[in-house]
Amino acid sequence: MKTFSEILQDKDFTREELVLLLNSEGGERQQLFQQAQNIKLPAVGNKVYFRGLVEFSNICSKDCLYCGIRKSNEKVIRYEASDDEILEACRFAWINRFGSVVLQSGENSSPAFVQRINLLLRKIKETSNNELGITLSCGEQSPETYRQWHESGAHRYLLRIESSNPDLYRKIHPDNEFHSFDRRLQALKDLKAAGYQVGTGVMIGFPFQTLEDLADDLLFFKRLDVDMVGMGPYIEHEDTPMYQFRNQLKTKQQRFDLALKMVATLRLLMPDINIAAATALQAIDPAGREKALTIGANILMPNLTPCIYRKEYQLYENKPCLDEDAELCRNCLEARIELAGCEIGYGEWGDSKHFSKK
Ligand code: SAH
Ligand code: SF4
Repeated sequence: MKTFSEILQDKDFTREELVLLLNSEGGERQQLFQQAQNIKLPAVGNKVYFRGLVEFSNICSKDCLYCGIRKSNEKVIRYEASDDEILEACRFAWINRFGSVVLQSGENSSPAFVQRINLLLRKIKETSNNELGITLSCGEQSPETYRQWHESGAHRYLLRIESSNPDLYRKIHPDNEFHSFDRRLQALKDLKAAGYQVGTGVMIGFPFQTLEDLADDLLFFKRLDVDMVGMGPYIEHEDTPMYQFRNQLKTKQQRFDLALKMVATLRLLMPDINIAAATALQAIDPAGREKALTIGANILMPNLTPCIYRKEYQLYENKPCLDEDAELCRNCLEARIELAGCEIGYGEWGDSKHFSKK
């Protein structure tokens, strides 16, 4: 049988080996983190790329059982940021040489929404001299919508599979055609066919999920040959059906630790993809995202959502609802990233090297 150190030197991993890595503690966990960093540097370099995150609407037609802005949560005040507010946030990103933005929202497939995004994409491109890269994260849409948005200027898309185990997926979503695992999988394939760099991911540490499930998630990312992954700890929200299982959860710190091990292990498995330091890490540990940067992640998504809307975009409890200036203060952000031993790829799109090689 291989030793832990021997497994770490591999390029391909069995499910059992992945479970072993995810289970590592103490010195072995340190070895895992060190090896992830060793693999990361030659594969994607030392730069961190910024994607300014604009959560432009919390109107959602879905009812995912874990999410604070699900349709049935009547406590949420629904909003849609105006074009001007969105363009202003994008302008901030452009002027501060963030390179890219992510436009994220609840799921809405109405023709008016689809058309609005088309126009917005064109305006963002126009007003940034075509320089700002645009990632979308607006849920499942038709192949035609994906195609149109791509043509209008979006070139990356984030759609987490949430769990690659169909049985588990069913447990955390309502049992109806709008929340079907097969549809989600198909959407990921449609995105690829439309020419996007595709990102997916999962929540880590939600009720009923095992380490074997997480190992399967990692193998799923590899099999799907994705370009980017964003994954973070599951965090309970009291106004959701899944809150009833909160007593079965690992502690937040355990979920955080597991999320870091997922990031490091994924870096070994897929050396040249982009891996985001998820915002949910920061909800558990103020320096959580920077910690992820030191053990394999290379993408950071500073929040550019207009402050007035932030408290209504609470996907989970304790979501950092930071004062804009503190989060974005260039010197602080730079200092924190330098402390993590990385440099910032100002003004660059920071596309997935994995995608470029295809
Ligand atoms: N509506 C789009 C994008 C917004 S939700 C979509 O669902 O794809 C973005 C991500 O937030 C989801 O993919 C999910 O993984 C994450 N999320 C939602 N509720 C969460 C929770 N309670 N804890 C951690 N992450 C959560
Ligand atoms: Fe809507 Fe996305 Fe939340 Fe599901 S996870 S309820 S699709 S915002």
